[in-house]
Order: sequence, then C-alpha cells, then structure tokens
Amino acid sequence: MAVSDHVDLPTFMEGVKKRNPYQPEFVQAVQEVAEDIFDFMADKEQYHAQQILRRIAEPDRVVSFRVCWEDDNGNIRVQRGWRVQNNNAIGPYKGGIRFHPSVTESVLKFLAFEQTFKNALTGLPMGGGKGGSNFNPKGKSTREIMRFCQSFMTELYRHIGADVDVPAGDIGVGGREIGYMFGQYKRITNQFTGVLTGKGLEWGGSLIRTEATGYGAVYFLANMLATKSQDLVGKTAVISGSGNVATHAAEKIVQLGGKVLTLSDSGGFIHDPDGITQDKINWVKEHKTHRRGRIEEYVEAFPNATFHAGKTPWGVPCDVALPCATQNELLGEDAKTLVANGCIAVSEGANMPTDLDGVHAFKAAKILYAPGKASNAGGVAVSGLEMSQNSERRAWKEEELQQMLKDIMSGIHDSCIRYGDQGGGYIDYVKGANIAGFKKVADAMLAFGVV
Ligand code: GLU
Repeated sequence: MAVSDHVDLPTFMEGVKKRNPYQPEFVQAVQEVAEDIFDFMADKEQYHAQQILRRIAEPDRVVSFRVCWEDDNGNIRVQRGWRVQNNNAIGPYKGGIRFHPSVTESVLKFLAFEQTFKNALTGLPMGGGKGGSNFNPKGKSTREIMRFCQSFMTELYRHIGADVDVPAGDIGVGGREIGYMFGQYKRITNQFTGVLTGKGLEWGGSLIRTEATGYGAVYFLANMLATKSQDLVGKTAVISGSGNVATHAAEKIVQLGGKVLTLSDSGGFIHDPDGITQDKINWVKEHKTHRRGRIEEYVEAFPNATFHAGKTPWGVPCDVALPCATQNELLGEDAKTLVANGCIAVSEGANMPTDLDGVHAFKAAKILYAPGKASNAGGVAVSGLEMSQNSERRAWKEEELQQMLKDIMSGIHDSCIRYGDQGGGYIDYVKGANIAGFKKVADAMLAFGVV
C-alpha cells in the first residue's frame, strides 16, 4: 500500500527551491503551474501517491557541454551548451534551441518544463525539451555563426534523433542556424531525417512554420474575444518584440482589422500612432532579420513614430496586448497599468513574459489573459506537423496547414475553457492550460508505472 505524501503547496515549493538553488526562472515556472495543480489534485489521490508533479518538475536529464569555436580574428572562444530533456511521456522530446547571452541552465529548465505542458496542449505526440547556449549571435559574422552552429551540433547530435528529441528554433536561432545545424547533423550521421524542425522548404521544412507562433497567438486572442462576442476590428494592440513572433503577430492583427501601435527590442520601443501597417511590418522584418538593425531606426523611416529608449511599451493605452519578446518582460506594475488603461485581453507570444505578480494582477482583474503555453503553442504545433510530413515523406498544402493551425489553436482554447471556466463569465486560462496540459502528461506517466 503506497503511503501518499500530501505535502502542501508551500512545502512543495520549499523543496523545489532547495533542490534548484540559483534557478529563479525554473522555480517561477514550477510555482505558476503548482498553484493550479495543487487545487486540481486535492481529490485525486493517485497523482499525489505517484508524485507526478514532483517527477515532471525534475527533468529526465540535463546535458551540459563545452562548445569551442574560432572567431574571425583567430581567437578561440568557449561557450556552454545545454539540452534539457524534461519529459517524454507522450512523445519524443521537442522544443527549441536558444542562443542568447541570458541563457542559463535555469532559463532552459523553465523553458523545457513549460514546453512539456504546451506540447501536451497541442494534442500532438510531443514531449518537452529545450536547449541552447549563452553564445551571443549579435554582431557575429555569418561564418562565425556557421562555425558555432557546427561545433554546437558536434556534441548535440549524440543526444537527439527523429524519435528521440527534435530541436527547433527559438530566440537567436532561425532558418539560417537550423540550416547549419542540420547540415552538420547530416554530415556526422549520414542520415537525412526529421531531426530538427523549422527547416527550409527545399529540405524538409513545412509551410507556415515561420508564421505559426505569431499567427497562432492572434488566433487564440480572437478565440478569447469571441467569448465576449468581440473581434479585433478597430482594436488597438500593443506588441513587444520585433522578431519572428512579434512581426507575425502584428501581421495577423492587421489582417483581422486591428491597429498595431508598438514594437520593441532590447534598446526600447517605438510607438506609431498611425498604426504599423503591413508595409511597415515588411520594413521591420527586413531591417531586423536581414539587416540585423535596431528598432530605434524605425523613427527615421516613419517620422510620425517616437522611440522610447530603455522602456517597455506597456504604458501605451490599448485594447489588447501581446508580449512577444522574452521572459519576465511584463511585471506586476505593468499589468496593473494595462488594466487601468482599459486593456481587455492579453495573449502571450513569448514564453513566461509576465512575472508572477503580473499573472496575479491579470487574474485579479479577471481580464482575458492567455499564458504563453496556450497562446504561443502554434509554433511548436506546426513543428509537430513538420515531423508528420517528414515521416510521411511528403509536404502538405498551405491551405491544409493554415486550417490545421486554426483548429489546433481552437482546440487549445476549448481545453482551457474545460478546466478554467470559473463561472460568471470568467475563464481562468492559466488554470485551464495548466490542468489540461498536466492531466495528459500525468495520465501517461501513471500508465508507465514508476520509471
Ligand atoms: N521555440 C518554440 C517554442 O517556444 C518552438 C519550439 C519547436 O518548434 O519545437 O515553443
């Protein structure tokens, strides 16, 4: 007879903190999930007895490795690389690779933990993982990027595989980097497999993968607004970031009749009261992705706009907000400001962009608030579809994929309502996403016994 360990939430979190010292992002991500799961588990003995949450919050493994490369001046540089394989109960580990100086083991553990729930929510068979390096791609030449990617893959290849672990892009890793990593994997293993997603269309990539995260976040937003019989026509939107997620979210907002007021990067944000139209979005894409410039230069091209150095855009009054930059970019005070200024819906394009105080402020105000693990799942969902196409050795049509993405986002929205409907017209999407994601992974783990 199993002796259940009914620790309460504070005691559980004490343990998480003790076992993960100096890993605040990971502790924060676990706390956000545990707050909802403890309530849900209250009358479900087997999840307690089998220590399911405790097991999901302990990665299956964390691989850490040295990445040496030579810069253009002949200097030898040493970086640290990681792959965190959090949980493969419902499918191969799946999740992006991030290259950014802020990357630490804590950041990647939080991302792999979140990814586990997000991937479960898509309904596709994918476990949760994440990887990356503290390598800073900013200012590096194309050949330096290539050498780094090759060196990174020279170690990573032994830990991944089409049925083992399938990485993709994330901050600092786009089509170019995936190309260099795929090339090196193929060279080492002599295998052409679906080991990475986000590939180029000529060599196994899927249509709409690039657009999917941003578009999906807006589809989710539209689903939330529809519960209040509203849509995006005429709504003002504040967006942070100016990378792949932010620019495609902006594009879809414009397509659905909304007006985008802001975009940002690490230097500050631009505010364009005329609205950031498709032409202007194209300019940003070209400027940020191909010329690798700063968002501040937007005001030279479009003089009606203003640049706000060192600031985030949350003080600009808006109807809807989409944080699409990075973790902890929207704090408690920002959340209160958005609500006070009349913001009715927030859809996260980034992973954990809102800190815990902010999450609590949105929940207290009972606005439509979607956590990234629900609203930004469109990217990894189309990655899952890319895996299916690779296994089938064929490519699906754009219309088919667009419809699948829409259906998956609606399915996630339905799951959130199922477990997050609080009555009185309020849906707690955080709770809904956490419980729906947890339940699928937890029930698979129960089937496997103690492993
Ligand atoms: N990095 C993206 C995410 O945060 C996509 C991961 C993937 O496609 O595997 O979900």
